[in-house]
Amino acid sequence: MEETRLKIRFFGDAGLRKKSHPVEAITASHREILNEMAKFMYAASGIGLAAAQVGINEAMIVVDSGSGLYKLINPRIVKKEGTQSMEEGCLSLPGICIKVKRSYKVTVKALDENGKDLYIEAEGLLACVLQHEVDHLRGKMIVDYASLWEKLKIKRQLNALRKKAQDDEELSKSGAKSCRLQM
Ligand code: ZN
Repeated sequence: MEETRLKIRFFGDAGLRKKSHPVEAITASHREILNEMAKFMYAASGIGLAAAQVGINEAMIVVDSGSGLYKLINPRIVKKEGTQSMEEGCLSLPGICIKVKRSYKVTVKALDENGKDLYIEAEGLLACVLQHEVDHLRGKMIVDYASLWEKLKIKRQLNALRKKAQDDEELSKSGAKSCRLQM
């Protein structure tokens, strides 16, 4: 993994359940965090990452589902259309894969790293990642979409994650990626 100052937070870390604060004034430090987040995401073979996942409760996400990198500040979903279901994995939930029903098409309003208004019309995979990351900013995770049956199935894994929430090193290494899409 490339050198970065960021550390991933796992399920069980209280910060993952907190609402992220909107960024009021974008500074050089926000731009630097976004760059570090992108580096981290690529190194982890992820297609998205929210600041909350690296312990920063500010509304920032990075996304690259194959069509280029987006660094977004204060992203909001302003339009939704259709439905789709994909098997999603989460960098904060190693080894867990959950089918999540989401909108097929979304329009996201955000600021870019220079504070310029941005509208992104996305569908399919990009729409899926954007919704996953915006969820993180509200403290929501893919386990919240799990059916009762799935919850029973992953209960042991979740308890293990909770226990190991502090022991990041071990988890990163074990990182059994049962899911193709990590975000
Ligand atoms: Zn995630």
